[in-house]
Formats: sequence, C-alpha cells, structure tokens
Amino acid sequence: MPKYVMAFDSGTTSNRCIIFDRKGNIISVAQRELNMIYPEPGWVEQDANQIWATQLAVAVEAMQMANISADEIASIGITNQRETTIVWDRTTGEPVYNAIVWQCRRTSKYCDELIAEGRTDFFKKKTGLLIDAYFSATKLKWILDNVPGARERAEKGELLFGTVDSWLVWKLTKGNSHITDYSNASRTLLFNIHELRWDRELLDFFGIPASMLPQVMDSSKIYDCTDESFFGKKIPLSGIAGDQQSALFGQACFSKGDIKNTYGTGGFLLMNTGDTIIDSKQGLLSTIAWGIDGKVSYALEGSVFTSGATIQWLRDEMGLISSAAESEEIAASVEDSNGCYFVPAFTGLGAPYWDSSARGTIVGLTRGVSRSHVVRAALESLAYQSYDVVKTMEAEMGEDIGDLRVDGGASANDLLLKIQADILGRKVIRPKCIETTALGAAYLSGLAVGFWKDMEELRQNWATDRVFAPDMDEDRRDRMLKGWHKAVEKAKDWAD
Ligand code: ADP
Repeated sequence: MPKYVMAFDSGTTSNRCIIFDRKGNIISVAQRELNMIYPEPGWVEQDANQIWATQLAVAVEAMQMANISADEIASIGITNQRETTIVWDRTTGEPVYNAIVWQCRRTSKYCDELIAEGRTDFFKKKTGLLIDAYFSATKLKWILDNVPGARERAEKGELLFGTVDSWLVWKLTKGNSHITDYSNASRTLLFNIHELRWDRELLDFFGIPASMLPQVMDSSKIYDCTDESFFGKKIPLSGIAGDQQSALFGQACFSKGDIKNTYGTGGFLLMNTGDTIIDSKQGLLSTIAWGIDGKVSYALEGSVFTSGATIQWLRDEMGLISSAAESEEIAASVEDSNGCYFVPAFTGLGAPYWDSSARGTIVGLTRGVSRSHVVRAALESLAYQSYDVVKTMEAEMGEDIGDLRVDGGASANDLLLKIQADILGRKVIRPKCIETTALGAAYLSGLAVGFWKDMEELRQNWATDRVFAPDMDEDRRDRMLKGWHKAVEKAKDWAD
C-alpha cells in the first residue's frame, strides 16, 4: 500500500517537492531556486528547461531524503505559478522561447489599447478576467508575433502552448499527454468559464491556432503516469491546480462562502462561490476554483500587490527591523500606531482600488511617532488591505463571510492576525499546516487515486494551530478604519 502523495509546487522563485502522508503531515521537502531573466525593464522570463530540470531534481531529492521509493508514492499532484506561458515544439520538446512569466509587462501597452477600444466587457463576460498583461493570452500572441517562424509553425500544428502545469505533465509523460486543468485554463484569457471550453472568438481575436492548446481536464483525475525512466516506476499523475486555487483547496475551503487569505509577497484572497460566477463590479476576478467529478466550482479573487513585501521593505531598504519576525515584537511594544498610517502602494494599488498611479505613503507623522509606531502602521496595513478586499467580496456576494483562514509567510505573525481579527470583527484561523499550496495539490491528486476517500476525510485532516478572536471595541475600530481610508486617498493618483 503506498503511504505517501507527492506534490510538485512549481512556484515563481523556486520549485519544490513536498511528500505528505495520509494525515497531511510533511515527510520530506526539497527546494531549488529558479533564475529570473530580465531582458528589458519590466520584462520577466525564465528558462523553461530549467523549470523542468529543477522540478525533476527536487522530486528525486525529496524521495532520497526520506528514503522513499516510487512504490510508496500513490500519486503526484502539481501546483504552479499561474499564467506563465510556454510554447514548445511538439516533436523535439524544445521551447521556442523562454517562459514568459506572469509578472512580465511586455504586453501592457497592447492591453491598454484593448481597454481604450472598450473591449473590457467582451473579455470579462467570457473569462471573468480583466484585460491585463498578467494573463497568458497576450504573452502567447507576443511569442507568435515575435519569434521568427513561430506563427507558421503553430499554424502547421507543430507547436504546443501550455502553462507550467501542462509543460511539466508533457515532460513527465515524454510527450504523451498535453493537458491542463480548469483552474489554470481559467487564467489564460482564452477560456470561457461559462461554457467550459476554449473560446473560439477569443482564439480568433488573438490569432491563436486551437491545435496548440492543451486539453482541459478536471483538477482531480488520473490523467496519465510518469514515464518509467524518471522514478524507476510509473507514478500516476492525478491532480493539477494553479497556486492560489490549490491553496484554497489545501485550506479545505470546499463550501460556498469559505474564504482564505494568503499573506505572501503579495496578498491573495479567494472565496469559494460554489456554482455561481460573480460578475464583479469592483475589480475582483471570477475564476475557476477547480473541477472535480465533472463539476466545476468557481471562486472570487482579490489581489493585493504588496503585502508581506512591506515588511521586507522595512528590513531591507529602511533598516527599521533586522528580520521580518522582529516586526512583531517592535509593533507589540506600542499600543497603537499613534495616528500614523502606512499605505504600501509601491507598485500602485490592486483590489479594490485598481490605481496603478498610486504610490506608497506614510501619513499622520508627528514628533511623537517613533520607529515602533511606523513598524506597527506597516503591519496594520496588511490587515487593512485584506479588510478592504473582504468587504468588497461581501458586498458582491450579498452576504457576510464567516471565519478567515490564513496562510503565507506573514501569517506566522501573531500580532498581525490579532489585528486582522479586530479590524474584520471575525475570527481568523491559522491551520497547523501553512504549506497549503502544496497540500492542495496533494489532496487533489490523492482523491483521484483513492488515497483519501472523499473531501470529508480531507476536512477532518485540516487542523487548527491557533484561532484569533476579535475583541476591539467598535469605536476604536471605526476610528482606525477611517484613518486608513483617509490615508489611501492621499496615496492615490500620485505617479504621472
Ligand atoms: P511568497 O510565497 O509570495 O514568496 P511567502 O509566503 O514565503 O512569500 O512570504 C514571504 C513574505 O512574508 C515576505 O515578504 C516577508 O517579509 C513576510 N514575512 C515573513 N515572516 C514574517 C513575519 N513574521 N511577520 C511579518 N511578515 C513576515
């Protein structure tokens, strides 16, 4: 009987492999960094062959570290940096260009033109997304338009497109399977999330041959097996989800209204909206959470550009703290921020403001404001930003959220989570396992092969580390929020 499930977590900065047991405990972790390539300002690429080689290497390493053989692995699940675009030759497997990473802004001018032509609704109605260089479609079009011979080869059916999940599956099966899952497909700006198929009109619009596209599958299903040569034995490939959706699954947010918040470099709030697609009027995205047993669940997503990175900035640029963890102790040494507010709009403001010309500000400075107050204000800003997204979600859903489940690097900060609970007036819950992204992929995969019986069993596995309950009086909360929103107004519309 296999005892483990293996998760491939192919992220932006590193590839990792985590091996989980049936209880969801981590047995082994291997990780390697990925190189970023910046050919021009604002352009971000990675070597697709390095993504593959690194992912394979960490898988072998994780097995060796815990002395686990392929016989003991029930299945593999994949979770990945979303939207990153790879085009390769279907015969040789050679990429025709570097992977264009989700952060890459090379197509933003083209996207601005589409917005100016009034095409926002056309795309939003079909895909649930806004027009932005972030999503795969314009990156793929860029490759076809700019790599010599690429368009002709694509039209002859010689090239394949995929996000990182598709690329890894294709490599792991030596070209036998060219697939993706609903969650990844829904981030391409080419997938119709109502009809659950690649959208002919969108493909024509960007001039993308349908023969390049992967087949879209459930997020939990036995797709194929790894080629024997990699791990000495075939292992079923049976789960795929984009990183944020995978984290939602790993947090056992299986029911409509369940919500998780990730405090990483940026912040990602996702709410399970069940079988309903919310047509957001306030800059949230509708996306597919996952497909299981032929049934798709949707999610509403709000992204905050700068979350934990605010704390990094205090450490690296300002030298106000010596480690991210120290922010807690320093912020806790004062009762409040003494009227100081910090809006970390370093790269503009995301949901719900969507102001790309906003810039960071610290306001309310008086002679009494100390380093501790500034650190506290910075920490509070993570909570305020999440508050704003939660309130927008509640308004769009027409109902209040329940408890907030949290993960990501900054969720290690107890004071932040206490402030979050106070500001939201809701319980904030940190699970024992905060590796929820990898855990989600393991769960999706293990479900498909019967390693776990059903979602109820996964729900049982989910264990609380700590609950943070609100106990702030309303007057104080209102005052703090009023100050925050006033500060946001000061940050807006700054850069030319
Ligand atoms: P990502 O996956 O986006 O790279 P992580 O989830 O690893 O990010 O989170 C890293 C971020 O969390 C960093 O920006 C760091 O500043 C922040 N962080 C880590 N530990 C703490 C802490 N104890 N308090 C506040 N922020 C923290």
